[in-house]
Amino acid sequence: MKTKHTHKWRVYSTALCPPAISVGCACGADGWIGRRDFKQSDWARAFHAPSRSYPLRKGLVPYVHVSKR
Ligand SMILES: [Zn+2]
Repeated sequence: MKTKHTHKWRVYSTALCPPAISVGCACGADGWIGRRDFKQSDWARAFHAPSRSYPLRKGLVPYVHVSKR
């Protein structure tokens, strides 16, 4: 696993149970943002992420899953 790597998160999906915004980095790391952290506008935008991912805006820091790779 690389060290000194700053993840470049992209929003790629949403989850409903519980509500969360899913993010991923090109290195293979996955993360998510819980509903206490994101705003309604983030949620609305993330709904389109499955067909068109976009960089996570500054100010949102995801919880990081263990890398799948
Ligand atoms: Zn990364």
